[in-house]
Amino acid sequence: MELRKQNYEIIPIIVDVPSNLRTINFFLVKAKESLALIDAGLDHEACWNALLETLQKNGLALHDLTEIILTHNHIDHVGLVNRIIADHPIQVYAHKNAIPRLKRDRQFLEMRVEFFSKLYEEMGCHEAGRKQVDYLKESIVKNRKLAIQAEIIPVESSHLDFQIVEVPGHAPDQIALYDPKHRWMISGDLLIQHISSNALVEPDSFGRRMPTLLQHKHSLEKVSDLPLDLVFPGHGVFIQDPKDLINKRLKGIEKKAEKIMNLILNGVTTASGLAQAYYGNKYSEQFSLVMSEIIGHLDYLEFNGKIRKEMEKGVWHYSINKE
Ligand SMILES: [Zn+2]
Repeated sequence: MELRKQNYEIIPIIVDVPSNLRTINFFLVKAKESLALIDAGLDHEACWNALLETLQKNGLALHDLTEIILTHNHIDHVGLVNRIIADHPIQVYAHKNAIPRLKRDRQFLEMRVEFFSKLYEEMGCHEAGRKQVDYLKESIVKNRKLAIQAEIIPVESSHLDFQIVEVPGHAPDQIALYDPKHRWMISGDLLIQHISSNALVEPDSFGRRMPTLLQHKHSLEKVSDLPLDLVFPGHGVFIQDPKDLINKRLKGIEKKAEKIMNLILNGVTTASGLAQAYYGNKYSEQFSLVMSEIIGHLDYLEFNGKIRKEMEKGVWHYSINKE
């Protein structure tokens, strides 16, 4: 693969990880006047060493980095930022919605805990929900040190040689860096070859729930419409001609929604009940992930007029829309 073009060069950093993500990918973008880091891996030695080795192999050093751009706020994409800016302060760019999350703004995080507390009660999760909420509360204090120490600058609609495309869904602040000239894109976790990306339920900055699966679907459709030959994902192998994979992911949403609708037909009415029926043990093992999947697909079905919901004793009950 020839990544060297006149204006700039993309230098991938690929770190194997012992999880279903397989690899953590982040990227150097080397131009005449700049050396940008797109995403910053996990805060662990393997990522740090991979960054240093890749720089060295290309005749570069840490102090040559001129800026960091983050595709979204998740810890496996921002891990090395504090180490890098402790070496020398450089500008850190991200979507504006990433800022309270990256700065671990206390007021925002407390609002987020409230949001999940109410959501899980309304979805009928009871004990499992309260356990997750306790975990989130503890994380506010425990993860304080993970706050990004730099001032974060909202990225604009174009940056370096890239158009910045908003692709929310997996995260509310997810962006992709798109180069229409070379028809390639650095896309965060929008599209991964070997697993489907989760659209994680999140509140917006006012504490309102965002329809994250609908956003994710819309982001996939938006990217599918772009002239695009190559995608550099945040995990796994690079994706050539991504249209087929995008179609597969879109069909996957459809299929899962159908299965969930069948469960509702069979009398399972709450999101919590559906999550347990659909995912079994995974319900308690990967609670927040599983609830995001179920709630997202319920949103999707509701949006399409297939189902409706009614509140009974503080819990939403879903039923098939017969009209
Ligand atoms: Zn992510």
